[in-house]
Amino acid sequence: MKALITGGSGFVGSHLAEALLARGDSVLVLDNLSTGSITNIAHLKKSPNFAYIIDDVMNRRVLAEAVDECDVIYHLAAAVGVRLVVESPVRTIETNLEGTQVVLEAAAKKRKKVLLASTSEVYGKSTKIPFSETDDLLIGPSNKGRWSYACSKLMDEFLAIAFWKERKLPVVVARLFNTVGPRQTGRYGMVIPNFVRQALTNKPITVYGTGRQRRAFGYVGDVVGALMALMDRQDTHGEVFNIGNDQEISIKNLARLIIKMTGSRSKIIHISYDKAYEEGFEDMQRRVPDLAKIKRWIGYQSRHPLRDILERVIAYERAQLKP
Ligand code: UDP
Repeated sequence: MKALITGGSGFVGSHLAEALLARGDSVLVLDNLSTGSITNIAHLKKSPNFAYIIDDVMNRRVLAEAVDECDVIYHLAAAVGVRLVVESPVRTIETNLEGTQVVLEAAAKKRKKVLLASTSEVYGKSTKIPFSETDDLLIGPSNKGRWSYACSKLMDEFLAIAFWKERKLPVVVARLFNTVGPRQTGRYGMVIPNFVRQALTNKPITVYGTGRQRRAFGYVGDVVGALMALMDRQDTHGEVFNIGNDQEISIKNLARLIIKMTGSRSKIIHISYDKAYEEGFEDMQRRVPDLAKIKRWIGYQSRHPLRDILERVIAYERAQLKP
């Protein structure tokens, strides 16, 4: 089996490539390195089953060749990270809408199954916890840049499911909740790599808002295992699945835990959302996946508790900081 991973040099993509190679599959990565990094896949280059192309998914000719070479497509290429989304809304919308459209078209021509990586952002400001795949979605107004990400990924979902219904292209949609682990960059705002870096360098830990907002963090290794299982099964076509962890922690307690685990001298400081992102920025207080469906279908288990994940991220960031 040969898999094409768009966005394969990113955080999740590089872990997926690693897992596929480990079970004996071949992998072709297509990534324009806009937010991904070549260092994420450097250790894979020695594998004879691994190849990569540095190009844009929007380059239709290159994409068509890549699709031709592969049996299945994991479409992970997207603009991600709340900071990036707020700072570059045009890029976010264009990348997410156009990128997915060209991937689905190319896949449809060759009838290659596509797994679309979507996001828990599509649940928006919903307060009905936990979020289930069939719930209504509550997205904020269009003058708040954050919601463009949710909307663009939601359109991707609609388009993918339309390709299944109308053209019988096998697709499956995975809504990834806060996914964390080694190699995730803090550059685009993600909280855990940021806090760990700040703690290891004894800098202030920047908690946005009150810190009472809660998140549930899933380990990237568990998540990529689920992506592979969803791709492998032939009965997932046209289906949407939540993937993540349902054990919550407040952001303030996360900061405290990271300080404790790193033995840091950092102090916690609070920064308003307006300063951290943009004026009028809206955050959700809670975001918890209902995992009943994915448990039922593939026996999914989130195997890594938060402490375990943090230990791995701390070890990784410590190694990165060494001269
Ligand atoms: N956050 C924070 N400090 C940071 C980065 C993020 O307090 O330096 C908060 C952010 O406002 C959000 C939560 O941590 O409430 C998770 O942020 P992240 O960007 O990792 O993911 P999100 O859940 O927003 O997609």
